[in-house]
Amino acid sequence: MATFKAIRIDKAENGTTAALVQFDEADLMEGDVTVRVEWSTLNYKDGLAVTGKAPVVRRFPMIAGIDFAGTVEQSSHPRWKAGDRVICNGWGLGETHLGAYAEKARVKGDWLVRLPDNISARSAMAIGTAGYTAMLAVLALEQHGVTPASGPVAVTGAAGGVGSVATAILAKLGYHVIASTGRASETEYLKGLGAAEVIDRNELSGPAKPLARERWAGAVDSVGSTTLANLLSMTKYRGAVAACGLAAGMDLPTSVAPFILRGVCLLGIDSVMCPLNLREVAWKRLGSDLESEKLAEITNEIGLDEVVGIAGKILAGQVRGRIVVKIS
Ligand code: NDP
Repeated sequence: MATFKAIRIDKAENGTTAALVQFDEADLMEGDVTVRVEWSTLNYKDGLAVTGKAPVVRRFPMIAGIDFAGTVEQSSHPRWKAGDRVICNGWGLGETHLGAYAEKARVKGDWLVRLPDNISARSAMAIGTAGYTAMLAVLALEQHGVTPASGPVAVTGAAGGVGSVATAILAKLGYHVIASTGRASETEYLKGLGAAEVIDRNELSGPAKPLARERWAGAVDSVGSTTLANLLSMTKYRGAVAACGLAAGMDLPTSVAPFILRGVCLLGIDSVMCPLNLREVAWKRLGSDLESEKLAEITNEIGLDEVVGIAGKILAGQVRGRIVVKIS
């Protein structure tokens, strides 16, 4: 009977448990492509799933992990054949479908994106869902018409995964990036990624005024709650904020003032069910707009056996940049 290493989440009396186990290949779920997983990553959502702090996992037992990169072993899908190099982000991986923290995954071929030639499997997962989401946010700002000439752009949760990648990409594209962080000790790190200014996140954390001084033409927000409300009230006339996260909370205590008096737009960013064509654009752009030296500065590598121990740290805001997980 073939087995492989995996981090399995099980239901327990008081919540869930997570452990590195041998998983039986016969228990993989349906799918037309089987992939040998080489790299995965630790995102905020993985932290929630592994610790059981939020109900990310919807089926038990579950293999955790929301994204992977690897090589196709078997396929009955017309787009894929053995040996193809692929990326998978979201689509319920690690939530409703057995996920990425495993040496093997079986998924729908429709979920897969071809690994661009200029991105290695390790780099793809150093970018991971967090970095691909940052790219989706940048694309949304561009589509709205926010250019470097429009004015500064703010990035919140800047020392985190989404924030670090967004900062590096926006700086490379020529934007004046204002990075907001709660960790003053990461100022040099953020400047190294290209931030022109680093501000204390307390400037954005109190109750938001309906309208405040116009400070930026655009923003990428991974924090939510009062931070997002403050970002909106400080956004310039006809600017936009791309909202992708909830690190400080799911609520949004704002008013309609920024929308109806300044024409500000709130752009929602979802990576999980994002259509394939937009994913392909995002990964192509990541290949050209994220410098490999910057990605290396952002990235720390861990083994599969370290994931359970580190999962709580990302929820505590103690992880800088991105964590890439070596699977096999
Ligand atoms: P990280 O933990 O790496 O980054 C989050 C950052 O937010 C922290 O590093 C910290 O930055 C800041 N932060 C944390 N807690 C607070 C707080 N209480 N108040 C203010 N700021 C805080 O997570 P990721 O980058 O992986 O994910 C960020 C968010 O984006 C998460 O909520 C995640 O669920 C969401 N997300 C959403 C996706 C989508 O499809 N919409 C896809 C990927 C992520 P600093 O120390 O610099 O202040």
